Amino acid sequence: MSNILVNDIECPWCHKTVINKLFFNWGAMDLVYYLNDRVKWYARPDKTLIPSYTYYKGGILNLGNPSFDKLIAFDILDYTPGNQSPCPNCDKRIGAIGAVIKNNQITDTIIMNTEIIWDLFKENHCDCTTLRITEEGYIPYYMPDYSKIPDKQEPFAKPMILEDS
Ligand SMILES: [Zn+2]
Repeated sequence: MSNILVNDIECPWCHKTVINKLFFNWGAMDLVYYLNDRVKWYARPDKTLIPSYTYYKGGILNLGNPSFDKLIAFDILDYTPGNQSPCPNCDKRIGAIGAVIKNNQITDTIIMNTEIIWDLFKENHCDCTTLRITEEGYIPYYMPDYSKIPDKQEPFAKPMILEDS
């Protein structure tokens, strides 16, 4: 369960494609996005957001917080802060790869080098899928453990683009 950003992401060394799909956890789950898409959130017909980190019947789940101005949602498969897999073409080590989200729009992708990742996350890097970008710098954002929460009933929520507040 995650979102997919369809986008070729180039290796900074050999300039070949490292991944063409980035799997990330932010917003309404299980949607496919392209660059410049607005992030959707599950909301009720009256446009109230369903609470994040709560499963609802029918696979409805919001992850994260739509009020964050700027953030990086990391690839949760191979290029997380915990994995930092090598480039499949040139074998050089690549830091985490993420989707850059500004005001609920996916504006870019980013490759963060291994030194920055290690400095930011220290030994806690494996659990972190998200980085807030603030005026004070990058702040790791750890999601609560939502995996054990039982389903609730919320049949009418749909993924939608929230109005700018
Ligand atoms: Zn490469």
